[in-house]
Amino acid sequence: MTEAKTEQNTKLGSIRICRETLLYMIKLAWKEKPVVFLVYVIRLCKDVFSRAWEILLPKLLMDELVLFLAGGDRQKHLHNVCLYAVISVGAVLLANIIGSFFGNHARSVLDEWFQEYIDISIAQRAMEMDFEHTEDPDALDVLNKAREGMSWYSGGVVGVLDQLYNMISNIVVICGGAAVVIVTCPLLFPVQLAALILFLYFNMRNNKIEVASFEKLSKRNRIFGYIFFQLSQLCYAKDIRLYNSADMMGRKADDHSKQMYNVWYEEALSTRGNLWAMDVVNALRDAISYFYIGYLAIMGRITLGDFSMCVAAASVLYQSLFAISSGMQNLMKRCNYAHRYMEFLEYPEAMEKGMRSVKKGEHIIEFVNVSFKYPRAENYVLRNINLTIKSGEHLSIVGLNGAGKTTLVKLLCRLYDVTDGAILIDGVNIKEYSEDEYRRLFAVVFQDFQLFAFSLKENIAMEETGSAAQERIEEILRLTGLSEDVQKLSEGMDTMIFKSYDEHGTELSGGQKQKTAIARALYRDAPIVILDEPTAALDPIAEYEIYRQFETLVGGKTAIYISHRLSSCRFCDKIAVFADDTIKEYGSHDELVALESGIYAEMFHEQAKYYQ
Ligand code: ADP
Repeated sequence: MTEAKTEQNTKLGSIRICRETLLYMIKLAWKEKPVVFLVYVIRLCKDVFSRAWEILLPKLLMDELVLFLAGGDRQKHLHNVCLYAVISVGAVLLANIIGSFFGNHARSVLDEWFQEYIDISIAQRAMEMDFEHTEDPDALDVLNKAREGMSWYSGGVVGVLDQLYNMISNIVVICGGAAVVIVTCPLLFPVQLAALILFLYFNMRNNKIEVASFEKLSKRNRIFGYIFFQLSQLCYAKDIRLYNSADMMGRKADDHSKQMYNVWYEEALSTRGNLWAMDVVNALRDAISYFYIGYLAIMGRITLGDFSMCVAAASVLYQSLFAISSGMQNLMKRCNYAHRYMEFLEYPEAMEKGMRSVKKGEHIIEFVNVSFKYPRAENYVLRNINLTIKSGEHLSIVGLNGAGKTTLVKLLCRLYDVTDGAILIDGVNIKEYSEDEYRRLFAVVFQDFQLFAFSLKENIAMEETGSAAQERIEEILRLTGLSEDVQKLSEGMDTMIFKSYDEHGTELSGGQKQKTAIARALYRDAPIVILDEPTAALDPIAEYEIYRQFETLVGGKTAIYISHRLSSCRFCDKIAVFADDTIKEYGSHDELVALESGIYAEMFHEQAKYYQ
């Protein structure tokens, strides 16, 4: 494709993007806060009246002055001048009051409302999007561009609508200004128009440069933001201090900041020439316009009142043309930025979405020849996994670090889809189930579970709780061995976790955090419980307690249990040993221990030494 053709397509693309964004923002505003349009209508009335008065007043005053100087009725002309002055003062005052209320005040309230609305919708979409996108740099870039594009780059919904409003109000004013100019000094119009076209051209070149910088800055901003986030987050404070990594982090931030500075610097250099050209166009336009109007007045072709009105109209016309030219490009630019938000909301899902309901009662899990490699990775992490987990069965998965144990759990929970083969529940491919219903089958505790700066109770229930829930939580706290610890907290289970938002908040120990996560999984009361190394941070006594309570905790539910401590496998009906990306051994503890030179037997005897 030729360069000219590509450019034409890009332009058509920008116009389409602008149209789509405007329609979207107008519909959104109409649906969520229609009052915003009332505010714009009142502002339009005020702006058009102010501009009209700005054009008319010099003519009215000048005509009175000329008639007065020509020997007219002194009293009458003085009276008229006073009247115009009073109207002017009154109009200015009224315009300012309306302007400050419907301009600044209403605007900032509505802007705040829409910004929150957008932030929430971005967060909601981010939470709902396929899990694999949370690790996809392209998806993260789109998310970042949506956030930035809808905040200070475009000004959000109100920023885009403001720009549209400016266009409309300027078009109305231009019609009035142009009518005056065409009637009194017609040649002024083509001069203004020619200047506008040239101005538009240079401004458009600058806008292109700015949009290109936005593309480059988005990734830099994300990395820069990440490093600052790490530096300022208290949860990273220990690691950063103990490994003296503040300097290293600071240097990284500095590097990225320099790269961002370079992008801005390049942008300033590239736009400089166009800005100078715009200044020259403005100067030439003013010189030609004033020379022409002055010539008409000296030659007696227009009155002094017309002269004043023409100067005022030319100025208003110029300001409005200027506003409309830069506004048009600003509108395109803002729409292009804001469109990133729409792109993010419509970011294509990677996983199939099923509708099927999960049947009640017992469930059989089957892995049928499952192989998997992570998105954008080259190597398979799991190969040809065949495994059946019966209802109520307790399966222990063991293997060295990196053997693929957690990956298997992630596949089962459908955080990722298998690359080959299929996972079936009750004989149905899990892709066919409704995501929401399917996820309710599982209560999972991953190694890297997260607690939130909410109360302990909320961290366990993860939903609104009533008094019945209170009793259940107490029971679960007892079962997980957290009761005594909770009694010591100032506000019991209502104590906030972390001190970030509550000075009376508490910091839990590693073991307490892990027990809280286990309590969360138990509260969920799902038919399949998965514990991915839940006892790694527990001391041996606590670990023993958890094991002892294990049967009570998990009861007759299906349980999948990943652990490095093989003694825990004795509690399980079956053990799957992962090595070389697949299941190498499978059987009960006694069967596997009896295998000569078996991986499990070797690992078990190796660990048993430490317990003897
Ligand atoms: P295990 O739980 O047995 O320690 P994992 O299932 O966590 O092992 O990891 C198996 C392999 O997959 C490892 O080589 C790990 O580096 C890789 N891996 C884990 N998570 C991801 C990911 N999100 N993207 C790419 N590779 C991953």
